[in-house]
Amino acid sequence: MPAPVHVLRVALPTPLPRLFDYLPPGGMAADAVAVGQRVQVPFGKRDVVGVVLGHGPAAEGVDLREALALPDPAPLLQGELLASLRWLAGYLHAPVGEVLATALPAALRRGEPLPETATFGWRRSEAGETAFPAMRAGKPRALAALLDAPRSEDWLDDAAPGWRSTMRSLRDRGLVERIEMELAPATGPRTPGDAAALFRPNDEQQAAIDAIRDARGFVPLLLDGVTGSGKTEVYLQAIADCLARGKQALVLVPEIGLTPQALARFRARLGVPVHALHSGLTDHERAATWLAAARGQARVVVGTRSAVFVPLPEAGLLVVDEEHDGSYKQFDGIRYHARDFAILRARALAVPIVLGSATPALESLHNAASGRYAHLRLRHRAGNATPPRVRIVDVRKRPLQAGLGDEALRAIRAAIDAGGQVLVFRNRRGYAPVLLCHDCGWSAHCPRCSTPDKPTPMTVHAHGRRLQCHHCGHRRPAPQACPDCASLGLQPQGNGTERIEAELQARFGDVPVLRIDRGSTGQRDALQAHLDRLGDAPGILVGTQMLAKGHDLPRLTLVVVVGIDEGLFSADFRSGEKLAQLLVQVAGRAGRAERPGEVLLQTHHPEHPLLQTLVHGGYHAFAEGELALREAAGFPPFAHLALLRAEAKQADPPMQFLQRAAAGLAEADPDIVLHGPLPAPMPRRAGYQRLQLVVSAAARRQLHAVLDALVPGLHASPEARKVRWSLDVDPVDLY
Ligand code: ADP
Ligand code: ZN
Ligand code: ZN
Repeated sequence: MPAPVHVLRVALPTPLPRLFDYLPPGGMAADAVAVGQRVQVPFGKRDVVGVVLGHGPAAEGVDLREALALPDPAPLLQGELLASLRWLAGYLHAPVGEVLATALPAALRRGEPLPETATFGWRRSEAGETAFPAMRAGKPRALAALLDAPRSEDWLDDAAPGWRSTMRSLRDRGLVERIEMELAPATGPRTPGDAAALFRPNDEQQAAIDAIRDARGFVPLLLDGVTGSGKTEVYLQAIADCLARGKQALVLVPEIGLTPQALARFRARLGVPVHALHSGLTDHERAATWLAAARGQARVVVGTRSAVFVPLPEAGLLVVDEEHDGSYKQFDGIRYHARDFAILRARALAVPIVLGSATPALESLHNAASGRYAHLRLRHRAGNATPPRVRIVDVRKRPLQAGLGDEALRAIRAAIDAGGQVLVFRNRRGYAPVLLCHDCGWSAHCPRCSTPDKPTPMTVHAHGRRLQCHHCGHRRPAPQACPDCASLGLQPQGNGTERIEAELQARFGDVPVLRIDRGSTGQRDALQAHLDRLGDAPGILVGTQMLAKGHDLPRLTLVVVVGIDEGLFSADFRSGEKLAQLLVQVAGRAGRAERPGEVLLQTHHPEHPLLQTLVHGGYHAFAEGELALREAAGFPPFAHLALLRAEAKQADPPMQFLQRAAAGLAEADPDIVLHGPLPAPMPRRAGYQRLQLVVSAAARRQLHAVLDALVPGLHASPEARKVRWSLDVDPVDLY
């Protein structure tokens, strides 16, 4: 019998949960190809890039195709990262090929060659040195002046934001040149004393720093500190310790937390290049940073959600800032949670992980209370800052102007007259949430999302001229007259940030009124430019939760929160937690510096227990009560959930698909708890009927056992072909 042919087992980015066999390219021996190498293969009519996960004898009687190429000489994914990703695929019950593709930077996933990872900088050319003294004043000269020594691109990012276009014109004139720079030494602050001496850590900070420094191996530490308590200082010192031991550090920050301000603070303090990873970079830049981490060149990586996938061959410390933040959860494709995966990686890497927040997730508080996490508390604001005074303002029966009561308007006036800045927080974009006919009661609903029993209002934008659905993006001009009764009495109901902005501009013409939301400031740099324009002068910011964190606003003395009442009565079991976190985070923006801050919570429900507990007991009192409720009701963290979603143009196929799944789950384990199949809380979106099935188990192992029994067969089921479906393990939203 001839020896069997050896093939490569390849993970490909397809929903099919299996590996694919290929002959090695160009007659190579299969075992000359390493596990973790990228490989380009023909798949159907396309070429795709996969990852080799093994070798083995070919199955008999199968037509084998030959792989096309190996883009790299060595494995790209290996060691701990590869093992953790395989574990993640199992945990999410997701195809390993898609998980690996999600982890790779887009450029590498497409098969592009490995980018250079050196640090680059700029210096004056010989011609530049000669020409410099005679250059005319202006931007080019100012930039050339900064190059009195070779400067790294990181340095230029801090010192001369927007330097690239000017530099390009200087290079075109032959006056400057781009050079590869030596990496700064991996230890020590930039100037002696810099890292330690800016502040002397207070006792609570010092205790936290010591606890992190003394942690050996895998230790999760919850850094539970009120806003402004100096958590970032603790991270910085812990990272400096990590660098001094010759190790790499990874810091995860929320989507809107990674501001130029925050990066500058890290760079200034650590004295090594700090590599940023966020959505504002090009694919090429992201790939270069990922690879620099893999090669051990990047010593500190600070990034948003997907930075959790960087390789860390010399890991020493992981940090997750604002660990409760919703942006750590990926809501489509591979639905991972970056905080949870970071914890898994820290365990695999045997390093400490610090989870920081002023409003820790209930899961994390529960883990701290049960002793699984070390609990480090910072109860006081650092320096001289005092906590803001929070007041509930009852607006029942009071006149409101664009949602603002007299008391709030008077407080805004007073704060401005005292030279302060004011934040008016409303978590709803647009001009008004609803367009209503005053004569017949008609209102504008999204044609693609509404159902008869669940109308989905379209939000009014552009001062009443446009309607927009915030769920599916559908837009249309607002009608001039009521489509039902032809009345001209159409009125925007309720208040979005646009309308509040207009009202405040009309009332407070003497100061700038700036709106900060996804409509006004798409880019992180645009937001910074906005805030720079305000500077230190008195003024008013109107915004959504984009303003709840990230940028330091030291002049902010008053925060007015409006429109929270709808959030008090939401059905989702996490809505109370989310609202409490949001309120505490927004309130924490006030009085971060020397000036005391004040927070007004405007409501029609002043006696609501959530508000009362928060204001009088604080976040931890709220959390304690909420955890007791979750335990009684059997919700996380006292149960483990998975959410199976299905949608189609008609409601029948999703129902049949979910019924089949429910039957399969009940057969695998008669004790498993199922809720549904039921219409999703939003039963129709963008023209699709949406249904869901919630799977709940007291133990994680029980949940995974039934999913293991169900999911492989689900892919192959005839019902699956008629629907779009997804499985979400540990769902954050039941939507
Ligand atoms: P958090 O991340 O907990 O909200 P930060 O780390 O941003 O807090 O610190 C809040 C403010 O207090 C910052 O301006 C920081 O520079 C300052 N700060 C931090 N630690 C100290 C300290 N030990 N003494 C004085 N000021 C401090
Ligand atoms: Zn009408
Ligand atoms: Zn819609």
